[in-house]
Amino acid sequence: VEELLTLSQQESSRHEAMEQPIDILKIIGLVADEMKPRFLEKNIHLKINLPGDFPLVKANEDRVRQILVNLLDNAVKYTPSGGSVEISANDLPQKIKIMVKDTGIGIPSKDLPRVFERFYRVDKARSRQLGGFGLGLAIVKHMVENMGGTIGVESVMNKGSTFWFTLLKY
Ligand code: ATP
Ligand code: MG
Repeated sequence: VEELLTLSQQESSRHEAMEQPIDILKIIGLVADEMKPRFLEKNIHLKINLPGDFPLVKANEDRVRQILVNLLDNAVKYTPSGGSVEISANDLPQKIKIMVKDTGIGIPSKDLPRVFERFYRVDKARSRQLGGFGLGLAIVKHMVENMGGTIGVESVMNKGSTFWFTLLKY
């Protein structure tokens, strides 16, 4: 219910009023620490590959936190034990790009364009077993776009997926 409310709120608010200069590397560090136990429990290596200094971005700290939690939650859910997940960041002209790359089960190319739709799950049986509603990525996409960014994914079946998003520099 909370996820549905968040989704409908994000769908109706076109632009976030609460964008501030935020230190996204600090948020990545906090979220990674918070989620570390889940990675340890499933024996998935979490690699944090971040540059030494990085520009401030124009965003809402809470939303960025939710975006990262959702992407890392998926990465850990859809990666078998013994795999790894890497978070990295690129400084580009006008914007920054954050990548979450896993060595998981991957997404078939025919499903790739649809994973950001609400309630869309690639493998319904498996997702239900993992407890998902197929709302996480729909929420994440709206949040990223409401802050002026873009989101995308590249994936190879049985090799892994890379979800990325951009945000504007402050
Ligand atoms: P929820 O996030 O609402 O708990 P969910 O994880 O099933 O449920 P989404 O996060 O929206 O839903 O993801 C949609 C679908 O995309 C998933 O059901 C899964 O099939 C696929 N998917 C998402 N992330 C990954 C990933 N990292 N590797 C493989 N498949 C993924
Ligand atoms: Mg999810």
